[in-house]
Amino acid sequence: MRVLLIYPIFPQSFWSFEKALQLVDRKAMLPPLGLITVAAILPQEWEFKLVDRNVNTLSDADWDWADLVILSAMIVQKEDFLAQIREARRRGKPVAVGGPYATALPQEAEAAGADYLILDEGEITLPIFVEAVQRGESQGVFRAPNGDRPDVTITPIPRFDLLSLELYDNMSVQFSRGCPFQCEFCDIIVLYGRKPRTKSPEQLLAELEALYQLGWRRSIFMVDDNFIGNKRNVKLFLKELKVWMAEHEYPFHLSTEASVDLANDQELMDLMVECNFNGVFLGIETPDEASLTLTNKHQNTRNSLSDAVDAIASTGLRVMAGFIIGFDNEAPGAGDRIVRFVEQTTIPIAIFSMLQALPDTALWHRLKREGRLMEDVANINQTTLMNFVPTRPLEEVTREYVRGFWQLYDPSNYLNRTYRHFLKLGAPRHKSKLRKVTWKVLRAFLTVCWRQGVARETRWIFWHHLFSILKRNPGVFEHYLSVCALNEHFLEYRQEVRSQIEAQLEEYLKNQRLHAVSESRERDAISATP
Ligand code: SF4
Repeated sequence: MRVLLIYPIFPQSFWSFEKALQLVDRKAMLPPLGLITVAAILPQEWEFKLVDRNVNTLSDADWDWADLVILSAMIVQKEDFLAQIREARRRGKPVAVGGPYATALPQEAEAAGADYLILDEGEITLPIFVEAVQRGESQGVFRAPNGDRPDVTITPIPRFDLLSLELYDNMSVQFSRGCPFQCEFCDIIVLYGRKPRTKSPEQLLAELEALYQLGWRRSIFMVDDNFIGNKRNVKLFLKELKVWMAEHEYPFHLSTEASVDLANDQELMDLMVECNFNGVFLGIETPDEASLTLTNKHQNTRNSLSDAVDAIASTGLRVMAGFIIGFDNEAPGAGDRIVRFVEQTTIPIAIFSMLQALPDTALWHRLKREGRLMEDVANINQTTLMNFVPTRPLEEVTREYVRGFWQLYDPSNYLNRTYRHFLKLGAPRHKSKLRKVTWKVLRAFLTVCWRQGVARETRWIFWHHLFSILKRNPGVFEHYLSVCALNEHFLEYRQEVRSQIEAQLEEYLKNQRLHAVSESRERDAISATP
């Protein structure tokens, strides 16, 4: 069986960083970890070819080669995902789909023509699918019986060998699935449950060893939605990772996502830094305590959020964080409060979004009951309006959002925050082995210096901070410069956010006015009826 694995295109987004990737001839931030894990679970006598459409083109020869096409996607990839299902059908190829989008909204993949829906987690449903194929069945829906979730200690090492490694900025691995918390808007706990399931330390070390043997020597993102969901197991893993990293002379920089309660566990933070973690993404969402309580994010209300950011940063982990506007009963000015919080805590990369109801989440079901969902299908990026009716006027939330995004990514605000944050981090505890400075790296360095240090009006801030970092914290210089380089992306992206959101808001307000006029005409007609 020849299987063509296709990963659909991501639209431009906050995280796409095209300009920064071009500097170093890379095409995407992260590889399709789900699809290469699928390839590892399927029978190894089958043949596999992976085409990640974010980094490669899909040729006629690829299609002709395939006996079966398998696609996996997140909701943001919806458009290309559905287009590739239709293309597979047009070419007469059987097509199987899975992943978070197909699991949340299987009817959409089915309507596009998918033959096999492999839903829920693949460790359970892929073997059932394989049996069906081997019985000669040409279609089917495969779900985990009784909502079972697999033990991830049985998950094999992903087929990293299928990737064109040089085209990615980071590699990814996963230690755990699931999160113990219950944030109302979160789809992770719907997809993976509230009991974190972790791999064994040996298992994840074997994955890192596989990447090491393939020659990978750059950053690795642990894609867990909450890396510290099971603190006991994560510490056991980190203790072994620490030894492995030292033996291998710290070949990777690591980063991950974690809940804010990381700040309460100094031992855990220290272990992470000792294992060469240099960044962590936190779901802070908002400094408004009432909104956090309402959305069931109680873990963020127990201690001061700004103290938590300080504790994490001063241990040596660069903080990235997510912020959301549009919670129910939010007081006006939420956007400004978020901007103030980000500035005060010096978080360089703050992903700011309007709240969206993702399918099947607790928020989605509540809003559906309350008749407040505006569309059946959620869209989830920074350039789309909210998909439900908020409790304060949508126009007010939207204008605060656009203004906040604009201020956060004002080029001097961004450079100043980044500088202050990197001074907080302190010197790295380990030196990675010195790498040869290649022409590619030198060219990227010169391009950043040209763009930031000559072409932009913020040139003096850039040079001042750069020399100051070299003097006061030289160990973080390379990391600091790579975060500064993202200024180009954010400058362009904030423009994108403003123009797209304002156009949608205009359309929304026009429809509201038309609706109000037609309602008033109807009322007039009724009152004029004798
Ligand atoms: S802490 Fe993060 S992963 Fe966990 S439930 Fe909340 S939003 Fe989801």
